This record gives sequence, structure tokens and C-alpha cells, in this order.
Amino acid sequence: MRYQAFCHAPLFCFLAATGWSAHGDPGQPLKAMVLTGQNNHGWQVLSAHYKNILEQTGLFEVDMVTSPPSGGDMSEFNPDFSSYDVIVIEYNGDYWPESTQKSFEEYMENGGGMVYGHAVNHTFRDWVAFNEMMGIGAWGGRDEKAGPYVHYRDGKIFLDNRPGHAGECIDAHEFEVVTREPDHPIMRGLPPLWLHGKDELYSNQRGPAKNMTILGTAYSDPKYEAHWGVEKQGTGEHEPMVSTIRYGKGRVFGTPMGHVDGGAKPGSAWPAIDCVGFITLIQRGAEWAATGEVTQKAPEDFPSESEAKFR
Ligand code: ZN
Repeated sequence: MRYQAFCHAPLFCFLAATGWSAHGDPGQPLKAMVLTGQNNHGWQVLSAHYKNILEQTGLFEVDMVTSPPSGGDMSEFNPDFSSYDVIVIEYNGDYWPESTQKSFEEYMENGGGMVYGHAVNHTFRDWVAFNEMMGIGAWGGRDEKAGPYVHYRDGKIFLDNRPGHAGECIDAHEFEVVTREPDHPIMRGLPPLWLHGKDELYSNQRGPAKNMTILGTAYSDPKYEAHWGVEKQGTGEHEPMVSTIRYGKGRVFGTPMGHVDGGAKPGSAWPAIDCVGFITLIQRGAEWAATGEVTQKAPEDFPSESEAKFR
């Protein structure tokens, strides 16, 4: 999106119109930023993992941007979003300064890319635009004011406006992810159903869900206990696990998968993020968010219906 961000310049507008700029500079890697520094989950492990798996595609050059710690002085925190094709948000913490929020909104409106994973959806309850970018959120004091509950029923997105707390977390277990949009570039060539590594299964998320497409779901089975919410067991609903959202000219890829304990040691193994399904979705989701296309082939070690696979 490097050029679309500067579309007041006629040459760049021409390049954007030809489609040339959708891939950044020809022959050059896409530029990705992993933005991290605060999360009640293991952000050191998660951010390093995102950097590694994006670099492994050979498509991305990745910079890490780390915010001040929780409670620190955020007033100077102002990353240069417009120099990047995609921003991977691995952050759940203090509000960014208003000028930084505005700069991120402009970046996305002008065609930026965003990727987010597990627990990011707790953050920034009162930042309206950010919630529109995520499509759905949970916790952080969210209730019906955040938007409807978002589930998947009868082959389509199902919005439920009943009031109530947002977010339950089902006991971590291996669970099946069902592909709902097999022709979407992110899902193309992946199996219709596959087993995800042991992970927390977020349920009863709610949010604006504008311009949101659910690419994959997981069943929140009532046989499992639920925590940190109102329900005491799985919802019996098909919960959004893989989604895209259009925000202005920008593209967002999001998943609630990818749990890592807070304080996890760098380099430690976590089935939720070492899962080849998760890795593939992040790699493909980031390329799609950056360019609108996916050139990566489905890996040969992708999980099957009966077996989760790890790297
Ligand atoms: Zn978690």
C-alpha cells in the first residue's frame, strides 16, 4: 500500500490504478511491522513468532516496534505506519495517544493492512475505529454497546443483538476449524476441516461486524467448561475463528486463535501458535492484508481432519 497512502501525487495514483503498487516495489519484499509491548499474554513469544513466520515466507521484511510498558509514558509513541504494507498488532494494553490513533486510522482508510491474533480483541474498547477494524472484540468491559454477538448459522454470519457481556473462553483443547469461504485467497487449497493445536476457544465475541467476512469457524462445544464470562460452558454456536474485515480501502485479517501464557519464556513451544494451520493462516492473512492476493501454496504438512501438525 506504500503508494496508495500518497494518492495526492498523480504518478502514484497512476501506479495504484495499474495494480503495480499492490505488491509494493517490484522485486522488493513487503514491509511488515510487528507492533507489540503490552499484553496479558506472552507478547515476547508471540511477537518473535510472528516475525519468524513472516520472514520464513521469503515475502516479508519485518520490523519489530515495541511500545512503552504498561503504565509508561505513551505520549511519544508514534510508529510510522505509512512505511509499511501490513501492521501485525500483537498488543493489548494502554491507549495510544490520540494523534497515533488518528495516524493509524488514516493508514487503514488509505489502503493499509492489519493482522491481529488472540487477545488483541480485549484492547481499546472505546476506540470506535479500531473496533470497526477488528470487527469483533471481547472482554475489556464490552457489552451490547460494542455491537451484536457474532456467530455463524445456516451458512452465513449471524448477528445477535441480545444484551450481555462479551467473551467467554472455553477450556483449551484441540478443536476443528471449518472452512466457510473455500474460494477466498487466504483459504484456497486448504482442507474443508482441520484440527487446530490445543488452544483457548473464544466464544460470544461481539462487535460492529461491519464489512466482515467469516472465512472459518470452530464449534464451541457445551461439553467444555467456559471461563471469564457469563456462560459456564461452550455456547453450542459456531464461533468466528478466521475473518477478514474491509475498513476504508484497508484490509484486516483477524483470528482469536493463538494463546500463549503471560510471562511465557522466549523460545518456548506453544501448540496454539506452533500449529501449522495457525502459521499458514497468519502467513497468508498477512500477504492478503498487504496486497489483496495470496501467492503462497498450501504447505504439505498442513493438519488433517484427525491430526494436528506442528513446527
Ligand atoms: Zn489466552
